[in-house]
Amino acid sequence: MPETDSVVRAMTNDGAFRIVAARTTDTGQAVIAAQKLSGVLAHNMADLVTTAVLYRETMAPSQRVQCIIRFDEEAGQLVADSHPEGWTRGLFQPGSGDAPPDLRQTRATLQMMRTLPNTDLHRGVVEVPNSGNLSEAFMRYMQLSEQIVSMISLGSVVEGENPTAGGFVVQLLPEAKEAEAAMETMTRRLEDFVEVRDRLQESDGSPSRLIEQIFEGMPFTWLQSSDVRFGCQCSQVRVMTTLSILDRSDIRELVDEGEALSIGCDYCGASYNVEIAQLQGLLSPS
Ligand SMILES: [Zn+2]
Repeated sequence: MPETDSVVRAMTNDGAFRIVAARTTDTGQAVIAAQKLSGVLAHNMADLVTTAVLYRETMAPSQRVQCIIRFDEEAGQLVADSHPEGWTRGLFQPGSGDAPPDLRQTRATLQMMRTLPNTDLHRGVVEVPNSGNLSEAFMRYMQLSEQIVSMISLGSVVEGENPTAGGFVVQLLPEAKEAEAAMETMTRRLEDFVEVRDRLQESDGSPSRLIEQIFEGMPFTWLQSSDVRFGCQCSQVRVMTTLSILDRSDIRELVDEGEALSIGCDYCGASYNVEIAQLQGLLSPS
């Protein structure tokens, strides 16, 4: 059976490590197509989509998360959202410059946001290192903002005949015995997985295969896995809800102009029509 996008978890039986690995090939490709991205920016977007999926699965499986690469010098931003139901979407908001931003040249920050069970927002921002390495920025965030020691590798190939995207988060668990020694062993082992791209390409991005390779020779247990896909939460109802927040005078103006509205979703490209009668409906007392 061909691989499809998914996220898989496993834990070593000694309780020292947990791994979350994801395949985001198709989701990343769909986001890149919807946003019409190419080159380095497409590559950054694919990795950011993987970041959002891994972040949610690691820290907040039942909450939605948002990750943003914000380029300095008003060069725009990349946004990725991941939802507990598995859908994930992305957005490129261009800045004032003509050329698309390049993470290896333009300084940037990585902002991570997740809703907490009490609906508060947890938000952290870290600098992306000069190398433009997003895996390092993600690790830095986990360490500084979540106080979790983790080893992260993201990889993607966005052009050509064999595109791939995915990555993993390996976490040292608080219950780990002889944590330092365990960490040393794992760090050495993961040196072979820093460049995870080639491995992902070899196995069609299979997260299970990646976990088997990383935990090779260590007894481990599979935990749950779930699907990941490109999707958006936009809908006619949401469009109408947004319009209903406008001032009555603004809505009246739209009605007087006498033309149906066509409202497009920046994330997925879907388009929604709002007829005059529907606008008038917003004006009538409910
Ligand atoms: Zn949409």
